[in-house]
Amino acid sequence: MPGIPLISHSDALTYGFEELARNGNVVQAELLEQILVQNADADYLKEHKLNGCTDLETFKARLPLITYADIEGYIQKIADGDQSPVLCQKPVDMFFLSSGTAKGRTKLIPAHYDFFLNTIRLFQLSGAFRGRHFPLSSNAKVMDIVYCGKQTMTKGGILTGTGTTNYFRSEAFKLKQQSTKMFNSSPNEVIFSSSLPQATYCHLLFALLAADDIAVISSTFVYTIVEAFRFLEKTWSILADCIESGTLPEWITDHAIQTVASKQLTQDHPDRDRGTLAAKIRLECSRGFQGIIPRLWRNTSYVLSIMTGTMLSYCEAMRFYAGPGLALVCGDYGASESWMGINIDPLSSPHNTIFTIVPDLAYFEFIPLERRKFSKIQEINGPVVPPSSLFTEVAAPVSMADVRVGQEYEIAITTSSGLYRYRVGDVVRICGFYHDLPQFVFVCRRDVQLSIHIDKNGETELAVVMERSAAVLHGTGVGVAEYTAHADVSFRPGHYVVFVELDVDVDVDVDLDVPHVRKGNQGSSKVAQEKRDDFERVLQECCDCMDGAFVEPGYVVSRAAKTIGPLELCVVERGTFRKLAESALDKGATLNQYKTPRCIAAPHLLAILRAGMVRSFYSGVRRE
Ligand code: AMP
Repeated sequence: MPGIPLISHSDALTYGFEELARNGNVVQAELLEQILVQNADADYLKEHKLNGCTDLETFKARLPLITYADIEGYIQKIADGDQSPVLCQKPVDMFFLSSGTAKGRTKLIPAHYDFFLNTIRLFQLSGAFRGRHFPLSSNAKVMDIVYCGKQTMTKGGILTGTGTTNYFRSEAFKLKQQSTKMFNSSPNEVIFSSSLPQATYCHLLFALLAADDIAVISSTFVYTIVEAFRFLEKTWSILADCIESGTLPEWITDHAIQTVASKQLTQDHPDRDRGTLAAKIRLECSRGFQGIIPRLWRNTSYVLSIMTGTMLSYCEAMRFYAGPGLALVCGDYGASESWMGINIDPLSSPHNTIFTIVPDLAYFEFIPLERRKFSKIQEINGPVVPPSSLFTEVAAPVSMADVRVGQEYEIAITTSSGLYRYRVGDVVRICGFYHDLPQFVFVCRRDVQLSIHIDKNGETELAVVMERSAAVLHGTGVGVAEYTAHADVSFRPGHYVVFVELDVDVDVDVDLDVPHVRKGNQGSSKVAQEKRDDFERVLQECCDCMDGAFVEPGYVVSRAAKTIGPLELCVVERGTFRKLAESALDKGATLNQYKTPRCIAAPHLLAILRAGMVRSFYSGVRRE
């Protein structure tokens, strides 16, 4: 109609968010009231004597802040088939298995189908913000490196799977592709395959066959994309042969995949096109893998994945494959319990990504935290404080309207699916507001820590240590593929162990391939031995550097007082961290949700790491 400006669907979405942002505090208050009215008859609220009250003061006074352990009994009742409103009025539609990798324990999070509707809405919304800077053609294809685990039923018949598994197997997944007009290049047969290598191979195969249509490369957590490209480094010549011949390798045995992949190869792509594509793959891959994405997928606009938090450590590898020019856009912030924040600035780098609270997803509270400090006496006398938390709570939780810029908080949420004042366990730092909505950076998981006694280091400190030691390794051309740490108190004095998997095999590649240590004639065993000795010296230096890079006062004084022993650098053989992941997957996690735990205590995981050990170094006498 003349005179009325047309606004696009994307504009409407971002306009809708603008409205939410301007009224964020009102939206929060209304949401809390709605949850408490709707669930007034739930056993949990009755037992806490809420008596139908919906005001914030009573809510805070009568309901405690809780963790999963506090409601495990209620959840078990629901899982066993109790039909009464245990935690919430509306029957629980499904359970999400929270990866629980930080503590090695899996949680059952009650959920309603509405979670998926929120997922679609959030994807559309953040897609609209990305679209302002990276417009995509409609029907763009996404190389989405995702995997789907198994679903089971609880005793009471409630469907259980990880959030992503339940989502991929739901109608919502189809709906999301249609509503965002972005379609996965891999068919469901690939996503649903129970074989990770076969699924990864086919994700690559389908994305190569649709190379010119791929606009986005994505995954839930960036670790999975990096793994897929490491896999490409090993399998590119097989992929090229497969594409050229139109025949799948023999080890693709998953029947469903065989059928769709063979059809795609032979019926949908003529021989001539496949020959050209195979030649291109051989040419580009033989030139190396730096910047391989834009060389093989020339129309890619950006890589989209969660790259914040522990995922930051994969960004360098991601940048390597993406090349310098391709945007790395951070995915939104959420958990099995609820979505929480959205990235409205897709141009920000992973190191600077901030999230904006979405106020109608859950009722948010913020628990003010301070990093634990130690008195001089505690520092000198050694073991006083039991290993608890890096952070202490310094004040009562506040609502969204009362957060302060610069302050760190743990987030607690109240949801319509029966979580009340539930600690998510994540620490965030407020860095500003978008109208009413707090904006924050993700800091770390609150409970992940290394501690022998008074020392307190978390995944953030460990990430800094790893960055420093990577610089020592840098000159060798060798990189750290994976890492984790453990506070070993099995003998006195306790000490930190940093487990590292390198991107070379120390016993094979170091003889052949490491530029910095390459000397003279290859082949002579004396030279090989010299090169190995050189490399071991670098690793020793790396170990010393790690020890020195832990600058947290508790650690520094304890090392000086010898109440913490020398740091141990434990180099494990390639593939060891994959075994860690497999062990989590066996327990019900999926690769989409998997995050390498940065501090490990579980004996079965330590056993895997120790079994993979190929070299061990202890830090020198610098602090002794
Ligand atoms: P899960 O419930 O297993 O899906 O894991 C959720 C957890 O993943 C959150 O509590 C965070 O610790 C982490 N996480 C999710 N999204 C992000 C993000 N955008 N940045 C950093 N960490 C995230």
